[in-house]
Formats: sequence, structure tokens, C-alpha cells
Amino acid sequence: MSFQDIIGHKNAIKRLRALIAGERVPPALLFHGPEGVGKFLAASEFAKAINCTGPAVSEDAADGLFSEPPPAAQPAPEGPSADACGACVSCSQADKGVHPDLRVIDSRFQGLLLDEDEQKQRTLRIDTVREFTRYVYQKAILSKWKVFIVNDAHTLNNQSQNAMLKVLEEPPPFNLFILVAAKKNLLIPTILSRSCAVEFSRLSQEEVSGVLTRGGMDPEEARTLGGLSGGSVRKAMDIKKVRDRIAGAAAGPRGVFRLVSGLPREPYLAREEAKLMLDMLLVSARKEWLSRPPLPSSPHAALIRKLLEYRRYLNQNVSHGLVLEAALLECGKMSITL
Ligand SMILES: [Zn+2]
Repeated sequence: MSFQDIIGHKNAIKRLRALIAGERVPPALLFHGPEGVGKFLAASEFAKAINCTGPAVSEDAADGLFSEPPPAAQPAPEGPSADACGACVSCSQADKGVHPDLRVIDSRFQGLLLDEDEQKQRTLRIDTVREFTRYVYQKAILSKWKVFIVNDAHTLNNQSQNAMLKVLEEPPPFNLFILVAAKKNLLIPTILSRSCAVEFSRLSQEEVSGVLTRGGMDPEEARTLGGLSGGSVRKAMDIKKVRDRIAGAAAGPRGVFRLVSGLPREPYLAREEAKLMLDMLLVSARKEWLSRPPLPSSPHAALIRKLLEYRRYLNQNVSHGLVLEAALLECGKMSITL
């Protein structure tokens, strides 16, 4: 994997390559944009590219002092070609997740550090920031750059952001922080002003389908999910999980109750899944409404209004199970399915 394998985000990648080629890598980058569009992947590739030492030179080539000189490198047609080779020691260690100078700070890291359930980590806490910033002042082990990727940086609470700010104010040379955030507005202004922002936007339907097909999904299913995804690969995968679960569920009220009782145990995750199902019901209801003369007084229009109301409830302190159950039963009466 390298920059050239990333689907979409042409402008962002071009900018990142230019930073590497011009040796103008800033101490802090902020990759922001919607969830599930490939920000973390781009951060990992950037980390790989700045530490890449290029393909290893074979012994024959190294000994061949009198052999023909290699042809001069051709300039890339679309700007600087700075990218990871994917083959050197640094690249392969990064790909295996064992590079000693590349650290990923996320809910998994925090869960392991604090010996807590990874799924329950809603915010990145100050202990986590203190732990990883210790490494900032240590020497790099293998590569020129030490890279810290803070995934879901918008979940850093205020205390953690202030602790992080201390390192961002005077970072030792060759330390790079990449903050990956879906909700940039949750970061304090002083962090924003110290980071070089790179924006990632929603992918097109074809790009989402392309990512899914490359992962081995049937092209027809990938196309359908691409259309429902709203430009996010993660949302497409979440929809797939729900659809797979529904495929095995019985029809009628019994199926509805079983579906609701099958929501994740963690309340936050269950609420997110209920929201996703409501969104899917809305898509189906709208499709039905549009397939008929779209009268505002039609029963389908009334159902859409009701579903929108249910969707609002899910952002409030209302039982997500009851809301989803009511929505599924209402839809069932009009043969609207997920
Ligand atoms: Zn390499």
C-alpha cells in the first residue's frame, strides 16, 4: 500500500506529496473530514513515506562500479512523487504495525494502557497523552522521524488537549504529530492554530464501491452499498453488517423484537446502530414515496415525517430500543423494510 493505491482524495494526497518532496514537513498535521473516508489510511501512508529509505540496493548493483549507470529518474507526471516504496525495512515494519518510531494513539491504545474495555473508551484521557508524549523526548530507534498518529483526536478531552498543546508548542525536531479528526470544531483553537490542516471530503459513490470491491466484495453489492454510504466507507460497512443481520431475521413483530434485542450491549454503539437503521428506513420510505405521485398528504409522506421525528428522538435521552421498535413496526405496516 502507498499513496498511489489510495482511492480518491487527489488534492489532499498531492499536497502531502509536495510537503515530503519539498522537505517541508510541519511538526503537526491535522487530517480532518467526515468519518470513514480514509483519513487514517492517508496518515499511515504519510508516516511511511517520510521514513521510507527506498527499495534496498541489491549486492550485484552495489558491486557493479563499472556497470552502466542507471537511467535518470523520470519526473512524475502529476507533481512530486514522494511516496512509500512498501519494500524497505521501515515500510515493512510500518505495514506490520511494529515500527518502533510510529505510534498510534487511539481507543485501543488507551484500553490496553488502562486495562479497560476498548469499546468503552469514549474520550482520550490525559493519562494516555502523558504516556505517549514521554516518547517525544526519546531518540528515534530506526528512522529519521518519530510519528505519532492520534486517531479520533476530536475525542481528546479538554485536559488532554491542553497536555498535548505543551508538546505542540515546542516539539523537538523530527517529531511529527498527525491528528486525525472527524469533528474539527471539538479541538481547541490553540491546537488548530499549531497544526497544518489537510481537508478530506466525502468519497463519490464509485470511489466507495471501488474500495469495497478491492476488499473482495461482490461488485453488485458494492455498488448498492456505495449508493447508501453517503461517501463513507465505514458507513457502507456498517450498513452491510446490519443488512447481513436482517437477512436472517424473521418477518413481522417477532422479527422486529429480535432485531432490536440484537443491538450491541454497549449503549453508545446500540444508539449509533439504531440511528443507522432509522436512516436506512428513511431511504426506503423516500424511495416508495417517490415511486408514486409525491403528494404531501400521502401515507408515505406521513410516515417519513414520523421517521424524522423518531430520528430526532435518538439524539435525545429516549430509549433507542423503543424508538427503533416503534419505527420498524410503523414501517412494517406499510411494507417498508430495511
Ligand atoms: Zn520504503
